[in-house]
Amino acid sequence: MRASQMLIPTLREVPAEAEIVSHKLLLRAGFIRKTASGVYTYLPLAHRVLKKIMQIVREEMDRQGGQEMLMPIIQPAELWLASGRWHVYGPELFRLKDRHDRDFCLAPTHEEVITITVGNEVRSYKQLPLLLYHITNKYRDERRPRFGLMRGREFIMKDLYSFDRDEAALDVSYQKMHEAYTNVFTRCGLQFRPVEADSGAIGGSTTHEFMVLAESGEAAVLYCSVCDYAANAEKATTQPAAGLDPGSQLLELQEASTPGKKSAEEVAAFLGIEPFHVIKTMLYKTDKEVVAALVRGDRDVNEIKLLNALKAINLDLADEAAVRQATGAPAGYVGPVGLKNIRIVADPEVMALTNAVAGANKQDAHLKNVSPNRDFKPAMVEDIRIVKAGEPCPKCGARLQEARGIEVGQIFKLGTKYSKTLGAGFLDENGKEKPIVMGCYGIGVSRTMAAAIEQNHDQDGIIWPANIAPYHAVVIPVAPKDEKQLNLAETLYRELNRLGVESVLDDRAERPGVKFKDADLIGYPLRIVVGNKAVEEGLVEIRRRRSGQTDLIPLSEAVAKVQEILPTL
Ligand code: ATP
Ligand code: MG
Repeated sequence: MRASQMLIPTLREVPAEAEIVSHKLLLRAGFIRKTASGVYTYLPLAHRVLKKIMQIVREEMDRQGGQEMLMPIIQPAELWLASGRWHVYGPELFRLKDRHDRDFCLAPTHEEVITITVGNEVRSYKQLPLLLYHITNKYRDERRPRFGLMRGREFIMKDLYSFDRDEAALDVSYQKMHEAYTNVFTRCGLQFRPVEADSGAIGGSTTHEFMVLAESGEAAVLYCSVCDYAANAEKATTQPAAGLDPGSQLLELQEASTPGKKSAEEVAAFLGIEPFHVIKTMLYKTDKEVVAALVRGDRDVNEIKLLNALKAINLDLADEAAVRQATGAPAGYVGPVGLKNIRIVADPEVMALTNAVAGANKQDAHLKNVSPNRDFKPAMVEDIRIVKAGEPCPKCGARLQEARGIEVGQIFKLGTKYSKTLGAGFLDENGKEKPIVMGCYGIGVSRTMAAAIEQNHDQDGIIWPANIAPYHAVVIPVAPKDEKQLNLAETLYRELNRLGVESVLDDRAERPGVKFKDADLIGYPLRIVVGNKAVEEGLVEIRRRRSGQTDLIPLSEAVAKVQEILPTL
């Protein structure tokens, strides 16, 4: 295409509404415009990038035996009532009514439709496995749409669903998708890690998130730099706790006056002990009960782990009134000894303590020499604490590191959750009816475009990985009014396109400086400048966007040189 005829509305100013780099650059480089909060129009350059990402996704899904189809975005409420999600989804679900006052929603995901479709059409084990996918807009009325394409209310997702006869077959499908996702993000030129993630209170299921490591990421990831262990911070574990003073004799419980000392640090400092020797007792309210969660004084409760351990749906820190009612003491003085009618969930590290300090369930008082099992009995001992960078890797013992991550994809073993509720079964070899075992696998296509920019940019603009760049090269005639220059540039531009090097001819009547700035901002992997040197000496300048390396090449060799460089970018 000729730049003079293209819609690439670049901006000099940084738009005030944009907080993160990808959002700023997508606006400035003329890729997107906002239509409503969390809803964007993809201009032609963005559309080209999206098509490339989708093509990579299609190739990798198809390679694993995936079959592409297309499911509706508008869906009747009945489907969502049948799965139980019409109510569970809450305000994130975009709801609408038709002219007959019937309820519909805009699909945030497609488990309902695909499960019912497959359930209606599949009868026998001979028809399994199936890997079915589509690429469509998804709708989620996010509480905080932000960061441009990162968290939109309308966004593009590839979702694939696997249908298998049993868990072992599901493992195979899951592994295929793990491989496909690894290939997709590698081909998109991203630095990423598959991380173990929390699968919610349903339990038992395996799930991995594919995280692009970037400062602006909304998720915290802990990873090992020695082995391949990596987990979402919500899920990360470490090695089992060693007893800290196993040899010491159990001493008599003793009350200590601790006026005004509430936090574990304050109490420890006041009593002259280490914070780890304090048992931190946090009271939480779930949908059913009040529970006491115990971690060491130098640790914090991981509420997701606690929620899962309790198999609860909601979990909130108990407020002051609830604490007083449950324990008789103000917050800050609660401890596990003598608690009545409150289940105790203790972290294993707490169980490894002896002669520790804990709240006395009495204003301004703590107990010394508290020993688990002797002085209190937890209902459950579970890993319920936050693991931090520097702690040992659960697999190999090396120190864990922490990074921020952008979730670009997630793979999930669903099991029979949807097939049971929505009636998707099959007959096995013995003619026995069984529920189909499912998995679901999503890639945020539009988010992947933004994530690529978070990882590939500099102060001048975007640096597209060549595989997903909107165009591979821009050819810039320095003085397009000079007919000789323009002709040479044109010939080169035509030849490049003829050979599959997607190129733009920047024939605009702009100063060269403006064109160079735009080329950097837009992020073409290669910039080819045709100036006086081309006319007089037959030389053109090829510049690589990422490294800035610039080579003067004879015009006759330019195409070959571009073809040689491109795969290396
Ligand atoms: P998140 O935790 O970021 O809200 P999610 O876990 O709800 O995402 P999934 O249901 O697993 O998302 O969707 C699959 C993929 O779709 C995600 O990995 C992500 O890349 C993308 N995605 C999800 N929500 C959005 C959104 N609001 N805007 C853009 N992409 C999104
Ligand atoms: Mg997810």
